[in-house]
Amino acid sequence: MDTGFSEAVERALAAAPASANGVLVIRLPALRRNYRRAAEASLKAETAAVVKADAYGLGIQPVLTALQKETARTFFVATLDEALALRTFANDATIYTLNGLMPGTSAVYRDARLRPVLNSLAEVEEWSAYCREHEARLPAAIQFDTGMCRVGLEPEAADALAARSELLQPFRPAVLMSHLVRADEPMHPLNEVQFKRFEAVTSLFPGIAKSLVNSAGCLLRRKYHLDLARPGIAIYGGNPQKVEPTQFEPVVWLFGRIVQVRHGEKGFTVGYGATETLKRDSRIATVGVGYADGYFRGVSSSDAKPGAVGHIGEHALPLIGRVSMDLTTFDATDVPEALVHRGGFVELLGEKTTVDDLARHAGTIGYEVLTSLGRRYHRVYVDE
Ligand SMILES: *Cc1c(COP(=O)(O)O)cnc(C)c1O
Repeated sequence: MDTGFSEAVERALAAAPASANGVLVIRLPALRRNYRRAAEASLKAETAAVVKADAYGLGIQPVLTALQKETARTFFVATLDEALALRTFANDATIYTLNGLMPGTSAVYRDARLRPVLNSLAEVEEWSAYCREHEARLPAAIQFDTGMCRVGLEPEAADALAARSELLQPFRPAVLMSHLVRADEPMHPLNEVQFKRFEAVTSLFPGIAKSLVNSAGCLLRRKYHLDLARPGIAIYGGNPQKVEPTQFEPVVWLFGRIVQVRHGEKGFTVGYGATETLKRDSRIATVGVGYADGYFRGVSSSDAKPGAVGHIGEHALPLIGRVSMDLTTFDATDVPEALVHRGGFVELLGEKTTVDDLARHAGTIGYEVLTSLGRRYHRVYVDE
């Protein structure tokens, strides 16, 4: 039967159990190409990979295995728990925790050969004292705040640290880092302001590798790249800049199972709140994916505002009415009848409706779409 989808997708969907209402297809070769693009953009720097939040929701283990087939050797997670989980299957990886050193956790870092990003003078003091006490020059990164006001040593703390060089002796400061706040707007003057602040503070600690850029930063001018780049979203196929088109390709495809195909009479309303009235006799495909799966309620459609769009092959199916917890309704009136059947699939995310398209409908960003991807989905990792 012609289903309207490509062969690779068809094979992935066929591999999903018939019971699955949502199927997430993650294309690892696309992920690897995206990493390579980020690495090529920041040519002189080593290119790490940010894999926090379960590799932005895509699944840390398969993502890591794929990235290690490229040149990725250094990885950033958010928390110590994430780092410990990562260590169980990445024995040789260099792993940093972006959220910093929690009180009393130094021994855990040492035992698992993990590296904290030291985000305050207090963290530097604790790590330094631990290393001194155990006579172990353990590596760590030090983060300076140059404009985020979130984590990282404030300028005064940086000056205080420079004045207490004995604090740096007992451990090995392996990386000095900071984080850009508006790198998605390449021409924004704040990029240069942060660069200058970072330059000033790092000059106090010569001879240590420097790291400033995230995905969007990899696309800035050469001088920003320094020694270590830290791309995340670009690897996962999100557009890191506000500029279109993106240089990175989609990695995630989401398919929702059609649980019912029904007739809707002109003048009837669809869904909770009766927010959308059918303007013609319609064929409606009800799909077993809803906001509980991270298919945000914000992408709903109403008489006042169109919603997200699903696809079967080349055919567009506009969302109709509100997204509910477990179900979403699509207008399949214009799709050939043979392609719309109970048990079939509607593409909710992929090349035609990208992560960023869906985010725009929901009033959010691609990062939140990816990290919200549901736990109910059957996941298929495609290696070809
Ligand atoms: C999340 C994060 C990154 C990666 O950012 P992307 O925009 O996803 O590339 C890099 N550095 C820090 C400090 C981060 O928190």
